[in-house]
Amino acid sequence: MRFDTRLIHAAQPPDSLTGAVNPPIYLSSTFRQSAPNVHKGYVYSRSGNPTRAVLEATIGAIESGRAGLAFSSGLGALATLLEAYPTGSRIVAVDDLYGGTWRLMDHHRRQFGVNVDYVDMTDLANVRAALARPADLVYVESPTNPLLKIVDLKAVARIAHRAHATVAVDNTFATPALQRPIELGADIVLHSTTKYLGGHSDIIGGALAFGDAKLAERFAWLQNAVGAVPSPFDCFLVLRGIHTLGVRMRAHEESARAVAEVLDGHRKVRRVHYPGLDSHPQHALARRQMGGFGGMVSVELSGGSRAALGFMRRLEVFTLAESLGGVESLVDHPATMTHASVPKAEREAHGVRGGLVRLSCGIEDPADLADDVRTALGRS
Ligand SMILES: *Cc1c(COP(=O)(O)O)cnc(C)c1O
Repeated sequence: MRFDTRLIHAAQPPDSLTGAVNPPIYLSSTFRQSAPNVHKGYVYSRSGNPTRAVLEATIGAIESGRAGLAFSSGLGALATLLEAYPTGSRIVAVDDLYGGTWRLMDHHRRQFGVNVDYVDMTDLANVRAALARPADLVYVESPTNPLLKIVDLKAVARIAHRAHATVAVDNTFATPALQRPIELGADIVLHSTTKYLGGHSDIIGGALAFGDAKLAERFAWLQNAVGAVPSPFDCFLVLRGIHTLGVRMRAHEESARAVAEVLDGHRKVRRVHYPGLDSHPQHALARRQMGGFGGMVSVELSGGSRAALGFMRRLEVFTLAESLGGVESLVDHPATMTHASVPKAEREAHGVRGGLVRLSCGIEDPADLADDVRTALGRS
């Protein structure tokens, strides 16, 4: 099955009892047993729920994995992943991470003595140097958040596996519509389904997908032990979002391109970060590795924080709000919003300064988004 067909049909047969083309929402916390421990596969909804099972199988299938697991948030998925890395473990992570991911990893470093090294993975020499010493987990985002740097996933997976490390990729920004890390050698894929998979800014959710069934079993055990599971209703909404992921990602990209073209070369703009622009340092890699460039654009304004705040205030179609990946366009100021949990020195060393603005381009008419950005820049 080709990808857009998989989104709608993979692992989602009509309900065997009624023929319903969408899975029923099983709002039951527990399931009758005909005798102690004799049941139909479901015991208690933390351990497993039929609606969640459909979502989990679908996520596994669309990420070209062997299995998927759903969580109550992206960070719930990450917290469960990190449960597998006890004191003394070593994690090598990309240096431009989602702020909440950085915060939780830093918490594990301080609280549990997990070693975390942050590496600029756009240069593979840095990855080789970091993995000259043993590591347990290599954690990658690509495109990164908020600077939209692209990491060569195939090469990083090869280097990591030579060092016997497990490779996890946060695929929230690209989605499986544009990039399938397991096909490139990753072992685990993480999602905040809150973003593009849900796609409508109406749920908080997370997921893990696994290339290997044994690894999935280990994390299914942890999923039940930790208990950060989503409600059946939220599972249904994520599934509904997944059905339109293909068409939405094409529309998001059309919007992002229109916005990036307005910003690119504008006299008030210091730098545009969009992997689809020829000027992006990893444009060729993005073209090779991804089936499209996605809907996220970051821009650094020449006038610093003041200019950024003025620009955001003048936008009318873009809504000032955290999050991304919904049908509506959102604007974010990483330094004071999504990445405020990263200490200033650390943040600025990586290029997240006050003048940086992150745009999640929605699926409104691209011309309206381009006009909005042009107007907001013009009067500054
Ligand atoms: C939002 C986000 C997360 C965290 O997910 P939540 O659902 O908010 O817990 C992790 N990684 C990336 C790239 C994100 O954008």
